[in-house]
Order: sequence, then C-alpha cells, then structure tokens
Amino acid sequence: MNPELRDLYQEVVIDHSRKPRNFRKPEGANRSAEGMNPLCGDEIKVHLKLAGDVIEEIGFEGAGCAISKASASLMTTALKSKTKAEAEALFQRVHSMLTSGQGNVRLEELGKLAALSGVWEFPARVKCASLAWHTMRSALDGAGTRVSTE
Ligand code: ZN
Repeated sequence: MNPELRDLYQEVVIDHSRKPRNFRKPEGANRSAEGMNPLCGDEIKVHLKLAGDVIEEIGFEGAGCAISKASASLMTTALKSKTKAEAEALFQRVHSMLTSGQGNVRLEELGKLAALSGVWEFPARVKCASLAWHTMRSALDGAGTRVSTE
C-alpha cells in the first residue's frame, strides 16, 4: 500500500475511535445484540431500528480498544438506510478484507470502510475489527444472542 493511503486510512481510524459516530441507542430500536472479544476485552452492543427490510437507524454502545470502536463507528455510518441484503453483502466483503487481505476486495467500493484494510496485517486485531460486524449480524437475524469471537 502506498504511504499516503496508509496515512489517510490511519487518520480515519483514529478519528472514528476518538469521536465514534452513532454512539447511542437509537430511539425506537427494535433489535439488539451483544458481542464480546475476550482476547482484547472489547464489549459492544449494537442496536438497530429495522423497518421492514431496511435499517432505518443503527447505533452502538460499549467499551473497547481503538480498532473495535473505529470499526463499529464506521459500520454504523455505512449501514444506515441499507437493506438487510445489502448489510449482509457488506458484511461478507468486510470480513473477506479483514481475514484474507486487500487483494480479494475492491477497496474503492468500500468507501471509508477501506480504512480498516490495514488491520489484516495484524492478526491479533482482526477480531477487534470484526466484532461489531458479527454483532450487527446477530442483531439483524433477531437471534439476540450473545456473540463471542472465541
Ligand atoms: Zn480490541
């Protein structure tokens, strides 16, 4: 990756970890799930307001490391107003980016989420970055169960 892009990605992650977007339970939230990553100590709750098939509102609460917070924050901005199917498709792409590297996804199609692509180089942080996504998926499924990365 070129150094300028790397710097830009780092800035996005730092910005979102310091000032998480949608860090709240949205009014009218009707789905939620909890997730935890015992390896790092990240704990997160994802709330959705689902209207039919559309994610009208999404927010999160919890405590964790910078990567877990930045990933959750970026996720909420990416998924607002998306359908269930679109959310699932995005989950798959982000998961693939985090677990198998940048070669397998088109970063330009991921917008700001591409900022998380550098995490792939730090296997210990992959679970931090994917926690919010697994938790969102569980909330979307309506399973409401507790998700653990272990
Ligand atoms: Zn973490």
